[in-house]
Amino acid sequence: MTTPAGPSTVPSRVVVVGGGPGGYEAALVAAHLGASVTVVDSDGLGGAAVLTDCVPSKALISTADYMAQFDKAADLGVALVDDDGDEIADSSAELGAINRRILRLARAQSADIEGRLKEVGIAVVHGRGRLAGPGTVEVLDERIDPVEPVEGAPADATDAAPARTLQADVVLLATGATPRTMATAEPDGERILTWQQVYALSELPEHVVVVGSGVTGAELAEAYLGLGAKVTLVSSRERVLPGEDPDAAQLIEDVFRGRGMEVLSRSRMSSVVRDCDRVLVTLEDGRTIEASHAILAVGSVPRTADLGLEDVGVATSPSGHITVDRVSRTTVRGVYAAGDCTGVLPLASVAAMQGRIAMAHALGDAVAPIDLRVVSANIFTDPEIATVGVSQKDVDEGTVEAEVAVLPLPRNPRAKMLGIREGFVKLFCQPNSGTVLGGVVVAPRASELIYPVTLAVQHRLNVDQMASTFTVYPSLSGSIAEAARQLHPTRD
Ligand SMILES: Cc1cc2nc3c(=O)[nH]c(=O)nc-3n(C[C@H](O)[C@H](O)[C@H](O)COP(=O)(O)OP(=O)(O)OC[C@H]3O[C@@H](n4cnc5c(N)ncnc54)[C@H](O)[C@@H]3O)c2cc1C
Repeated sequence: MTTPAGPSTVPSRVVVVGGGPGGYEAALVAAHLGASVTVVDSDGLGGAAVLTDCVPSKALISTADYMAQFDKAADLGVALVDDDGDEIADSSAELGAINRRILRLARAQSADIEGRLKEVGIAVVHGRGRLAGPGTVEVLDERIDPVEPVEGAPADATDAAPARTLQADVVLLATGATPRTMATAEPDGERILTWQQVYALSELPEHVVVVGSGVTGAELAEAYLGLGAKVTLVSSRERVLPGEDPDAAQLIEDVFRGRGMEVLSRSRMSSVVRDCDRVLVTLEDGRTIEASHAILAVGSVPRTADLGLEDVGVATSPSGHITVDRVSRTTVRGVYAAGDCTGVLPLASVAAMQGRIAMAHALGDAVAPIDLRVVSANIFTDPEIATVGVSQKDVDEGTVEAEVAVLPLPRNPRAKMLGIREGFVKLFCQPNSGTVLGGVVVAPRASELIYPVTLAVQHRLNVDQMASTFTVYPSLSGSIAEAARQLHPTRD
């Protein structure tokens, strides 16, 4: 459903505070719709998504995935030998080189985004934005000659300009979030690390304790395990990945343990302290784990503290997230917000969608309010877990009535050829009508395989339409069609 936007006169000046996916995607839409756009960003275009979170973590995982291929070589009949014909026992990760590649790649992506914005006439200001009124953004700590921070150079090594003020008809706040830290586990950037600090490591940790078994903790724990480190995962819950599909989470936990990761369930961290070249992680039950490094993945907090929100009357939740409606409006007319600073759903794809919707609404274009039921999400473990639509929890709790089909992936012929030993496809559909309501794919590259299920959920296709669509033989997507076939409504 699309609805016309609110304002009757089209505003012409847009200021976006924050250049991550929530901000830069919005800026591109606003420029396309004819507005004069300025993006104010403090840390680099692309935001945390590109510079420290999403892109670097997925690049690290790509290397771990690549190394995992060597482990499969013998299964597929391949012997790895050196120039003398001697069998190579193992591959080894050179973390310094891996991290340099990751940081280079992230900076290149950031520069590409900045270039793209400038290409379409968007002004980019490197500094900290703050609301000084509903249509006024103050720029603090502006750097005239920013970009390309040189490794090792102090952050303030560029020329500073005096503070200035930008006037706007529409302001979009997209300032993101930052890792949550605790007084009892202060990161030191060397051995006690947030997920944003790990790319400064030049050598593979001998033993890393990852605190937190949500998506970030699980992804990083597996990446370092794949790279060859000893890994202990501290999980405060019964199972890793709480909140995810229970079958998928159990499978991943079994895979973790099977590959040698120590998973401490129902174990809450109480402190992490440094002792020379060791760290001591103490749990609430008194146990202590000694390791070389600790990575903290205990949630994030919105970057909204210094934005002048209270002065202007922009409402926030007790957690500090900016309150928005489904078209990204805040409580102040003309001020919109998108992305992790709103706490709607911490995904780059959702941030970008919120930003685009905000601009479409503000600038009088047709707009559909955001629909979180059709968001597809992926956890980049090995195998990956991709989900869309209703969940097993919805079905188990009776919130949604659904038929369920689960198909183990190892039965699929392509999976056998590829040496895939774990994974499944799960589909949910409405009883009688067979309308596809959701799905879970646990497989290598599940992030690519979930797309047909997302299309089906978003466009309310039924299982027969999915089942009667050709899939390539042999292919992993054949299992998605097969699961749909199993859900063909039968006459009782
Ligand atoms: C380890 C990790 C991995 C992730 N992987 C994925 C993934 O694979 N897929 C996915 O969809 N999501 C992923 N996410 C989530 C994703 O990174 C976030 O949802 C996304 O970054 C949110 O975008 P954003 O624009 O709201 O904020 P950000 O990307 O954080 O960008 C905010 C920008 O605002 C700037 N800023 C802040 N305050 C100010 C200010 N006062 N003035 C000017 N500028 C300011 C910052 O410098 C930053 O550039 C991951 C998150 C983490 C932690």
